[in-house]
Amino acid sequence: MAQLQRIAIAPTQIQQEQILLTPEQQHYLRRVLRLYEGEHFIAMDGRGKWWLAKIAGEQAQVLEPLIVETELPVAITLMIALPKGSGFDEVVRCCTELGVACIAPVLSDRTLLNPSPQKLERWRRIANEAAEQSERAFVPTILEPVAFSHAVTNNTATHRYICEARGELVHLQNALTQISGEIVIATGPEGGWTAAEVEGAIAAGFQPVSLGRRILRAVTAPIVALSLITAVCEV
Ligand code: SAH
Repeated sequence: MAQLQRIAIAPTQIQQEQILLTPEQQHYLRRVLRLYEGEHFIAMDGRGKWWLAKIAGEQAQVLEPLIVETELPVAITLMIALPKGSGFDEVVRCCTELGVACIAPVLSDRTLLNPSPQKLERWRRIANEAAEQSERAFVPTILEPVAFSHAVTNNTATHRYICEARGELVHLQNALTQISGEIVIATGPEGGWTAAEVEGAIAAGFQPVSLGRRILRAVTAPIVALSLITAVCEV
């Protein structure tokens, strides 16, 4: 299975054992991956299902479903204040590799930019590529950016954490006990969260946690947080 090329498809593209390929997917399979008629590849629907398929004209034929074991036993949502510049591309790529289920960009008091719709498309493309590369069965969902205050009050995950760089706080690793179901973890922008934001999150049921004694960059913090969660949940 490892040698086969993989592409992400939408669940609706599969109909009666046939995958209706878009012109872009046909181009990608034939011109970019250089697969010929009848050759096999893996189709992933981004929701945990993989199929072995073979190219048949403008479609692909489903040969058999595949079992994958590359997903985490918990669904992690990363709530992240958008960092400056292209830092978010790297966050999307790394956190997808680490197994994140959903990335929820938020606009915080110290976030300056409100990204264009093209940026969202770009992040979704990066998530697709990273999910393929890391052999995930699931492409993370990237939500549209919303205000942080809105995101925290509307979150219903069973385990909620907000990373705060300063203060005597419990370490995330020690806070992760009896974890199952959904986890949401929030990381702030370069300038950090404001006190009001942290208070608002606590009032909404988030536990403030530390990632260690050093101040991490806005791009590093989510990667460390995800690594700690995977280390605790996957053993
Ligand atoms: N400029 C801020 C730090 C911002 S770091 C200051 O000097 O206080 C960007 C974000 O990364 C923070 O908002 C926090 O969510 C996270 N972060 C960085 N280091 C951290 C640490 N040691 N523990 C917990 N969160 C941290």
